[in-house]
Amino acid sequence: MRSVIVLGSTGSIGEQTLEVVAAHPERFRIVGLAAGSNRDRLAAQAREFGVEHTALGAVEAEQLARDVSADVVVNAITGSVGLGATLAALETDAILALANKESLIVGGDLVRRRAKPGQLVPVDSEHSAIAQALRAGAPHEVRRLVLTASGGPFRGRSRESLASVTPAEALAHPTWSMGRVISTNSATLVNKGLEVIEAHLLFDVPLADIEVTVHPQSIVHSMVEFVDGSTIAQASPPAMTLPISLALDWPNRVPDVGAPLDWTAAQSWTFEPLDSDAFPAVELAKQVGLAGGTFPAVFNAANEQAVDAFHDGRIGFLDILDTVAAVVDRHSPGETTPEMTLEMLLDAERWARAEADALVASPR
Ligand code: NDP
Repeated sequence: MRSVIVLGSTGSIGEQTLEVVAAHPERFRIVGLAAGSNRDRLAAQAREFGVEHTALGAVEAEQLARDVSADVVVNAITGSVGLGATLAALETDAILALANKESLIVGGDLVRRRAKPGQLVPVDSEHSAIAQALRAGAPHEVRRLVLTASGGPFRGRSRESLASVTPAEALAHPTWSMGRVISTNSATLVNKGLEVIEAHLLFDVPLADIEVTVHPQSIVHSMVEFVDGSTIAQASPPAMTLPISLALDWPNRVPDVGAPLDWTAAQSWTFEPLDSDAFPAVELAKQVGLAGGTFPAVFNAANEQAVDAFHDGRIGFLDILDTVAAVVDRHSPGETTPEMTLEMLLDAERWARAEADALVASPR
């Protein structure tokens, strides 16, 4: 029986984590829950799961992760505000089931250095797929990682045609139901860019050996190519309960968490190259990942500000990535050291948010 803390329990991943736990009381027990501001839903969850320890906001979530003993901490907070909770969880002996990719991308080596061997387990379906496929060979036999992308709601569209798309259209993801930020990031492909950096950090594979292919059906969740030319893919219907359950009980598989593929029905899976003109986010993310240091933090923070501005109607869809690219371009990382401190990363984030806000406010 594993005891579990869920940070971001009122969100899309948080609620699905609780579904998995509710369906498997013989394996999991909730001992702590944290939300941002949704006090009522948090209280209802605490009643339902008989949980004594709850927290509201990032600071309380961090304390919960540090002070309440658990076997697994699920970080499903959205945005880089989840970094403190990630670092707090890594101070303990708990496994960190990480949905909050932003904290790994922003924290980079700082997070990696603090993680004990085997402590960091991915929740993202692509990274869960890679972790599963990596079991098929030795680390030195890996040639490259191939991340699949659904392509989002605007797959196949030209850059020009994206100028007038609305927030509602950007949130209408064809295969996944997710929170606002990640849905928007899936429409711009920033999410895939973040995932490329996440894969590099999690699996220690050079960015040059990580590729993205567009797979609109979202059945193959990612692949690993080995040195002999064999490619191992992980496939399942698009549902987060599978990667969530695997992260909760890693490395064990939880029976019956989702329906498997139906091989009696005809189906076709397609793969196509990413259109980097319409969706330059992955290329930009790779450059940012290569630059390292404070660049990933700047990229992510500028994007969070721009996504907010898009949803508030202050900028258009294409302005999101234009703003991010302009902020990255203006960034001069000051002191460079191989070991970033939390203060340096938070300073860079603050600068990037202010810079993005100023660009958003300036007439275009
Ligand atoms: P949601 O927006 O649905 O949920 C976010 C959760 O974080 C909510 O519980 C929210 O609480 C909480 N939260 C927000 N701000 C704070 C804060 N300052 N302090 C503490 N808690 C806070 O997001 P998702 O569930 O979609 O995504 C969560 C993370 O998982 C993201 O990093 C995302 O990239 C990643 N992810 C999501 C996937 C998905 O399918 N949804 C797939 C793979 C990764 P409240 O409700 O009170 O606002």
